[in-house]
Amino acid sequence: MERYSRQLLFAPIGEQGQRRISESGVLAVGCGALGTVTAEILARAGVGRLTLADRDYVDESNLQRQSLFTEEDCRLGLPKAVAAARRLRAINGAVEIVERVVDVGPSSIEGLAAGQDLILDGTDNFETRYLLNDASLCWGIPWVYGACVGSYGLCLAFLPGETPCLRCVLERLPPPGSAPTCDTAGVIGPVVHLVAALQSAEALKILTGDRRAVNRRLVSFDVWENRMATLDLSGLRRDPDCPACGRRSFEFLEGRHDGRAARLCGRNAVQIAAEAAPVDLGAVAERLRRLGAVRRNEFLLLAEVDGFEIALFRDGRSIIRGTDDETEARRVYARFIGN
Ligand SMILES: [Zn+2]
Repeated sequence: MERYSRQLLFAPIGEQGQRRISESGVLAVGCGALGTVTAEILARAGVGRLTLADRDYVDESNLQRQSLFTEEDCRLGLPKAVAAARRLRAINGAVEIVERVVDVGPSSIEGLAAGQDLILDGTDNFETRYLLNDASLCWGIPWVYGACVGSYGLCLAFLPGETPCLRCVLERLPPPGSAPTCDTAGVIGPVVHLVAALQSAEALKILTGDRRAVNRRLVSFDVWENRMATLDLSGLRRDPDCPACGRRSFEFLEGRHDGRAARLCGRNAVQIAAEAAPVDLGAVAERLRRLGAVRRNEFLLLAEVDGFEIALFRDGRSIIRGTDDETEARRVYARFIGN
């Protein structure tokens, strides 16, 4: 227990809290900026099992803020979940790290969330957050929302059955283009670490069972404009008509809003979802090698073809880089990968 001695000395955690942390399972959804930082803090804190779910692979523009990744991960084109898992195992060998290279959606969430004590939001879109909100309510798992763009960030913890849910706070999906994204406004490292630190603090409170200490307010700040605010949500009761926590109609879990192609934040890239079916990456690599440079590892292939970079994962999912137009991306997928 020596490695946790400073955490054990911290009275609200102590030996009992540490034991609870070590018996906990946490699902980190998204292993990018927020996900890598929260995962590192929780692995160092000694969480029992940490599941990392991410659909993407490491690229050079991630290194500015995604703290677990190196230039080598980028050169190898490793999936983020795999690269992060390797680093976390080196940091704390006692933590069971489970990496899942997967698009978190209605068909994959149950297998990921089942039996977890907490879900951490490291995603970049509201569709997935509403899915996490549904999952949280359906299976009674607390989750912690975090978001950042530019120099602005926010954090809010949700306890199913106790606090209002995300849809009580924000009933509908924000319309496309209604808010800045890291595509349009960029994002700086400090705000990522600040949001992730707040999320991790709520995580430790929840995992140790100290629910009284959980912050029921929405915390937001802008580290460039020197603003910090908390929004008291205690006046906002759980809405009996809320489709999610009131009527328990889990539209996102049921896949009623599931898109087949999605633009990826900050990437000039589009993801094409596919029916999960194993792909013979070797055969595809052979075909594409005649058309351009192809790199391959055991998880995915990367092909530079016709001005696009195509990443094809073993489950048939693809990320088309070099366009943010979904139709064009589908066309590229159909031309070079086919179905
Ligand atoms: Zn609700």
